[in-house]
Amino acid sequence: MRKLNLILLGAPGAGKGTQAELIAEKFGIPTISTGAMIREEIASGSELGETVKSYTNNGQLVPDSVVIDIIKNRLAKDDCANGFILDGFPRTVPQAEALDEMGVEITDVLSIEVADEAIMERMGGRRVCKKCGATFHTKYKPSPAGEYCPCGEKLTIRADDDPEVVKSRLVIYHEQTEPLKEFYQKKGLLKIVYGQEKLEDTTALTMAAL
Ligand code: AMP
Repeated sequence: MRKLNLILLGAPGAGKGTQAELIAEKFGIPTISTGAMIREEIASGSELGETVKSYTNNGQLVPDSVVIDIIKNRLAKDDCANGFILDGFPRTVPQAEALDEMGVEITDVLSIEVADEAIMERMGGRRVCKKCGATFHTKYKPSPAGEYCPCGEKLTIRADDDPEVVKSRLVIYHEQTEPLKEFYQKKGLLKIVYGQEKLEDTTALTMAAL
């Protein structure tokens, strides 16, 4: 299998995390989710967590310098040597430029496209496990254990999945993250996948694009 240094783009709730898990399994490479790492920092009560909490809980982006540091440390770990999936990074043009400056070679950029209205509907059903990080959806990807994660923990709704917060996250996505499509189009790396109603249909399109 070829080496995959993949960036997943797409609005919050487009299904990046779910596709990332499936690609990670198929290619045997780690998924790096800055959002999950930030939520872990907040849950641990660390100084960094306290600093970023107000941004994340209000749907704002955490300052570039903070996430760039986080990603630099993570990509330096041994398990990234044979490929990786970036889920939720970069989210701004300066973050993408920082990856270039670090000398990180990206092989593929995949943008999962879903209309804002569909995102609003999807986000209402999203559930996450605070313990193991697994994500579910009450309608599209229910947990086999109902309101619980298969790991035993009760599933919760993310603070930033509140509808008003989702609306502002979508505005931020269009303003700050969507320009990355042009950034990577110019490098000849961009592929588009149209998110489908059924998870397995989106997965089939995703796998065909890689
Ligand atoms: P996500 O789980 O990817 O939707 O990320 C959740 C939240 O973490 C975002 O709304 C931001 O507050 C923060 N975050 C995650 N990744 C980034 C990033 N690359 N740049 C800035 N903020 C980020």
